[in-house]
Amino acid sequence: MLSFASLVEDALHLFYPHFCKSCGYDNLKKEQLLCFHCLNSLPRTDFAKHPNNLTERIFAGRLDIAAAHSEFYFSKGKIIQHLLHQLKYKGKKEIGVFLGGLLGESILKSGRFLNIDVIIPLPMFIDKEKKRGYNQSVIIANGISPILKVPVLENIVFRNRFTETQTRKQRPERWLNVEGSFDIKNEKLLEGKNILLVDDIITTGSTLESCGRKILKIPSTNLNIATLAVATK
Ligand SMILES: [Zn+2]
Repeated sequence: MLSFASLVEDALHLFYPHFCKSCGYDNLKKEQLLCFHCLNSLPRTDFAKHPNNLTERIFAGRLDIAAAHSEFYFSKGKIIQHLLHQLKYKGKKEIGVFLGGLLGESILKSGRFLNIDVIIPLPMFIDKEKKRGYNQSVIIANGISPILKVPVLENIVFRNRFTETQTRKQRPERWLNVEGSFDIKNEKLLEGKNILLVDDIITTGSTLESCGRKILKIPSTNLNIATLAVATK
């Protein structure tokens, strides 16, 4: 049935078409980011429900986490790479919020990430964030937050580049140099908290590990990790 609202929407569509962010198909409602086909072909992992999933195994023996999840498989040239590229380099923040929402729903349904108190987005180097104008992990966290009904804590964990002298001092851990070091501004705020640390994609996990170690030094913290995507070899 043709309603006035749908007529208005059709008219608006002529002037402001809404294209699918993946394939470019243009017959979408304004709140939709992906067409039905693209939404259904997203490479979901189903990790959230499963202990010892691929993302958890990345941290095995390295970091004491409660649970970890990645929502999508990342492959070069495929849909998730395309969407992450638009989120990170083309200013398409709505993609991060949307995909973050899907991630949040999986976490909520899994029943394994219980009583999360706060979401902490993995911080970027300050200079890099200034250049980009935003941190994509914050955008993803903002998509998860209303689903889990817990706040996102920004500007509490910071990422610094190592200085030359630090690099020399810590020769055995030289690999850490690229990841930088992490500082926490107000540790009291995180004491006793069940934390969800969020990033866009996990490959080796070394950056998340380094940040997670710092968080776990705070008394009585519990650490969970969630990323939008996991890169498989
Ligand atoms: Zn599409």
